[in-house]
Amino acid sequence: MTYQSSKSEQKNESWWNTRTQLEKVLFGATTIFASAFVFVSIAFLVNSNKSWIGNIKTAKSVIFESATPYVCMTSGCVKAASHIIESMDQTVNPCDDFYRFACGGWKETKYINDDQTGITEFGALRENLNRKMRALIEGPPKKDEPFYNDMMRLMYNQCMNQTNIETYQASPLIDDIIEMGGWPVVENHEWRQESFNWLDTIIKFRNKGFNHNILISVFVGPDFKNSTRHVPQVDQGSLGLPNRKYLLKGLNDSTVQAYYETMVDMAIALGAQNKTRVKQEMMDVILFETRLANSTIPMEERRNFTRLYNQMTIADLTKIAPWIDWQKLVKSIFLDEISKDEVFIVKVPSVISRVDEILSQTHPRIIANYLMFRMAFSALPQLGKKWRKLTEKYDKALTGKNGERPRWDTCMRRLYGTFGVPMSALYVRDHFDPESLEKAMEMVRYIHQEFVESLEKVDWMDHKTKMRAIEKAKGISTRIGYAKEILNDTKVAELFHGLVLKGSATFYQNVQALRKYWTDYDIKKLREPYDKNDWKKFSQAVTINAFYNSLENSIKFPAGILQGIFFDKNRPNYLNYGAIGYIIGHEITHGFDDRGRQFDKDGNNRNWWEKETDLKFQEKAQCIIDQYSNFHVLEDKNLKLNGVNTQGENIADNGGLKQAFLGYQKYVKDAGTEPGLPGLQYTPNQLFWISSANIWCAKLRLESLKLRIQTGVHSPPRFRVIGPMVNSPHFSETWKCPLGSPMNPTKKCTVW
Ligand SMILES: [Zn+2]
Repeated sequence: MTYQSSKSEQKNESWWNTRTQLEKVLFGATTIFASAFVFVSIAFLVNSNKSWIGNIKTAKSVIFESATPYVCMTSGCVKAASHIIESMDQTVNPCDDFYRFACGGWKETKYINDDQTGITEFGALRENLNRKMRALIEGPPKKDEPFYNDMMRLMYNQCMNQTNIETYQASPLIDDIIEMGGWPVVENHEWRQESFNWLDTIIKFRNKGFNHNILISVFVGPDFKNSTRHVPQVDQGSLGLPNRKYLLKGLNDSTVQAYYETMVDMAIALGAQNKTRVKQEMMDVILFETRLANSTIPMEERRNFTRLYNQMTIADLTKIAPWIDWQKLVKSIFLDEISKDEVFIVKVPSVISRVDEILSQTHPRIIANYLMFRMAFSALPQLGKKWRKLTEKYDKALTGKNGERPRWDTCMRRLYGTFGVPMSALYVRDHFDPESLEKAMEMVRYIHQEFVESLEKVDWMDHKTKMRAIEKAKGISTRIGYAKEILNDTKVAELFHGLVLKGSATFYQNVQALRKYWTDYDIKKLREPYDKNDWKKFSQAVTINAFYNSLENSIKFPAGILQGIFFDKNRPNYLNYGAIGYIIGHEITHGFDDRGRQFDKDGNNRNWWEKETDLKFQEKAQCIIDQYSNFHVLEDKNLKLNGVNTQGENIADNGGLKQAFLGYQKYVKDAGTEPGLPGLQYTPNQLFWISSANIWCAKLRLESLKLRIQTGVHSPPRFRVIGPMVNSPHFSETWKCPLGSPMNPTKKCTVW
């Protein structure tokens, strides 16, 4: 993945149970659009003033081509140039700090609103997309729209209808709590311990559409060692906080403190009496969750797929975790018959044993308090304002933001998870330019070709491993735009077959119905083959992201990212190669990062590395780990990056930017030198680097940066520019950065 919003930001988008990525597939959708599109060809105007370009220090000598005498004056070029000029701070020496050089101006002019965790170019594009979608969804439906579009509009309108939400306040949640057996801290002496059984509560959660993967996770996923089928899987549960590290810091941490206070506030708001007792009971809950957090293994230890692949039957599970009634649990979670010989993939058996032990040692009242808190916490966004406000303190501690986004924006974001496919169809019909497919495809060809050729030249691989790597690289399949099936109402209808949403039901009830529906949908895949070409895997076109999928050995670029700052067919290609080209290279390289390399060309987790080359890879990856671990954010020099968790993305960034640059050199050889941009005295190659930095221009709250560093697999935006550039000889050559200058250190790391 190219971009991941921080967990808390995802929270909003996922409470409708973010459709497990109904992933995607497609190809050849271009034919759908026989409709004429006016192509504005780029008219290159000759600018006779040669000193126009090349008269500033940094642009004097460029290795790959001499400064071009042409300047492009089309509207596309003028628009692009203006954005670049605004983004840059040209008083900064590009060899000192290229990120500030390319994004310093951008940062100056941006202001983070109270309800925002930060501002990024990715975010700006997403906002733009949200506004387009708003017009489509709030606008009158077209004639004969399919039934699922009615459902989509119903959910949006119910979310927007705050008057109605205010009338029911928290009553549907209270009904659910009672149905689940009550929340002990609220009911105090009235709570009946003898009728409580944590497993029964988990099963009720599952049946009502609440998250059942709280203490342990039981789900259906593809089989990593045989990527043609699905298998039942068992893993550690999810925690209420985005990462175990928070809880392990304890109550001295401001986020944990706010989390604890939110628990107390919620219980009191729901009617709990005696604050001293409530605080004590919730303290027990925090201590319990901290024990659970302690039993899980950190992200750093979850990068080796072979170690996360342990086959076990119910009998085996019972042996390692005897307190849990596995038979009953799996019978209630899955919809298919599960025989006693069914083989489960257990990610980390020792974690399951530890959780089992904790459960056996914990008072049922504490477990019940915890489960009810988690359930209620997930329901707050569907309730009245007073209830939604209960999480404000926590959100502020976690991300720095204060207050709710505009309601339409919240409601729109919530739709993507469940109605992403119909939304994509609306978007593609109205906004997608089919001509961008062809041009993007051409870029993929150049960059992909470059990657394969660079593999041929790698000097640290033995012949056998290299041949397998080349075979895998050649086998990568590409999907650009969207699956044409999303425009086929009959096909899309299959996705929503059996879903019932009622206009007479509350927003809260319909959200639960949706959650239940999509949980069933995922669980039902158990006996279905894992089909790499399934159109549903490439059906979410309104996504501003790109993907590499190890199980498919495929790269995907949804329609949503083929626009704006990433891609524009009406501007010179050096800007496109720097932006979407960087992303294309990044996704290709993922197939060969520390995790992607654990899968073969067919998408199976299998070791195809000869021992000696394997060790060399590890050495090279370690160089990246160490290098990034020493990067710290500008705002706080004690806040260093997590080089282990981000290594895969960093390897992809380094390889991706390099392949994009070299791919562009090839393109120029074939297509000829491109003109420069008005008002910017830089060569095409220099503009390539500026463009590659501009996509990462960002201003983030310190809390949000911390959150990203603690929970994310991507480096913060600044380092997605600085990291690959300090390692790139091509960068230093383009900008003539002296060896030893900040952007051209003597020690460099390269994997691909
Ligand atoms: Zn990525």
